Amino acid sequence: MPFSKLGLSQNILQALKQNGFTKPTPIQERVIPLVLERHDIMAKAQTGSGKSASFILPILELLSRDSYEGKAKIKVLVLTPTRELTQQIVEAFNTFGAFMSKKPKVVGVIGGEGIGEQLFNIQKGCDILVATSGRFLDILSKKQMILSHVDFFVLDEADKMLDFGFAEELELILEALGQKRQNLLFSATYPPKMLFIASKIMQNPIEVSV
Ligand code: AMP
Repeated sequence: MPFSKLGLSQNILQALKQNGFTKPTPIQERVIPLVLERHDIMAKAQTGSGKSASFILPILELLSRDSYEGKAKIKVLVLTPTRELTQQIVEAFNTFGAFMSKKPKVVGVIGGEGIGEQLFNIQKGCDILVATSGRFLDILSKKQMILSHVDFFVLDEADKMLDFGFAEELELILEALGQKRQNLLFSATYPPKMLFIASKIMQNPIEVSV
């Protein structure tokens, strides 16, 4: 099935073409239409499956349909276990959003850089925040970040975040987020702790395994 059959607009199809993405991977074929239908998703997917684009593309699509205005607010929160993955996701949001009429502002935060500067970057205007879970929790504890407008909450490679005390802090994160949000969870494995976290976050998720 070509990308053009998945419900994505011309501006995103153009960016895909320009970057040599000719055909969706199996997880993209399954997940993109479900995200566009606004389902919560619990996906079992390995690195290399194309899982990141499976949430990045439909989120950009939904943002491009939304006539949001005024000061940028955090509408998308993506948490990851590593700097590398954070940087890749930031890059992909920028690459595939390149032809949107109103390009969303993407901010990536990772450990090892000044928190003050990162908070400033977020407060200056941020539509999409991509963060390593550890640094995100540090910034959250400063209580200067508004998350009540988050429409999309994504955990990528979630099982790898369990080692960073993520489960223990989850309640704090969920309290800060608005209730009306779509949750997308990607994990290579689902041990009991992961299933518990999923049960806390998700509402009637559709399970996808590729
Ligand atoms: P991921 O599993 O999300 O880490 O993606 C693995 C790699 O595959 C990344 O470098 C992506 O840029 C690339 N990729 C993802 N989807 C596609 C696709 N449909 N066509 C070609 N490359 C892709």
